[in-house]
Amino acid sequence: MAPEDLRKLGIEWLKNERLLGVESLEVEEEPEMLKRVQHDSGVQHDSGVQYDSGVQYDSGVQYDSGRKRSKEEGLAAPSSPTTTPLLHSKKEKELFLYYESIKNCQKCPLSETRNHLVFGEGNSDAELVFIGEAPGRNEDLEGRPFIGEAGKLLTKFVEFIGLTRDDIYITNIVKCRPPGNRDPLPEEINKCRPYLEEQLKIIKPKILCCLGRWATYTLLGIKGSFSQIRGKIYPAPTHMGGINEEQSMKIIPTYHPAALLYHPGWKEKVKEDLILVKECLQSRT
Ligand code: SF4
Repeated sequence: MAPEDLRKLGIEWLKNERLLGVESLEVEEEPEMLKRVQHDSGVQHDSGVQYDSGVQYDSGVQYDSGRKRSKEEGLAAPSSPTTTPLLHSKKEKELFLYYESIKNCQKCPLSETRNHLVFGEGNSDAELVFIGEAPGRNEDLEGRPFIGEAGKLLTKFVEFIGLTRDDIYITNIVKCRPPGNRDPLPEEINKCRPYLEEQLKIIKPKILCCLGRWATYTLLGIKGSFSQIRGKIYPAPTHMGGINEEQSMKIIPTYHPAALLYHPGWKEKVKEDLILVKECLQSRT
């Protein structure tokens, strides 16, 4: 490839990096870098320079500067801190860029005690989104939603309706862990809620399965006996948009998996709710 073409390719690559929020690149001193590095598109530079990559992005260009993220930056959504996400679809890119735009959020005091802002993860084209309350200890440490014991139970919920975690999207109404796993405060929920709504506008799922009281009360804007509210189908509020112009999202509340750890007897009720989710997923309306 001619040097001028390589130069243009390099500039394009750097622009993509910038768009994705990369402020600086860590590179080794010569001569080690020159021996090792090769452009991430697979094109060999005249200098022998190759950029370390790992992520597919627009037009086949890959990015991943190898930049170390600070604790405050959180993880690369929708993947883990140790991996950089593969971005194939328009929605994945939109979610990733949205994550990049909020990852340093300090709108509420939870930012002061978190290790990671837990954005959410899963299939950006999911028809079904599970929405929990807030990250717990493990989630805060790893930057991923539902990875502890409750996460294992959630995986069973998903399998019960014949899906895998790769088919769905998982997130919370509050993105940072409340200290000591206390309930999120109303002002924290109000500050964080727009992030969830923006995620849902990008994903446009058919069904939101709210896990527990807080997610349900927040999305439906109602309060009351949760045992009376769960297990029914509700239309999502109109401002949250729909899966298309005619059809709004549906909300089906059920118990939070963590609640089942303390109340195993609620398992049968959860199964009833999940059957409703499955029927709703299969219906055309
Ligand atoms: S909980 Fe939400 S609003 Fe509060 S700091 Fe975290 S991301 Fe920002």
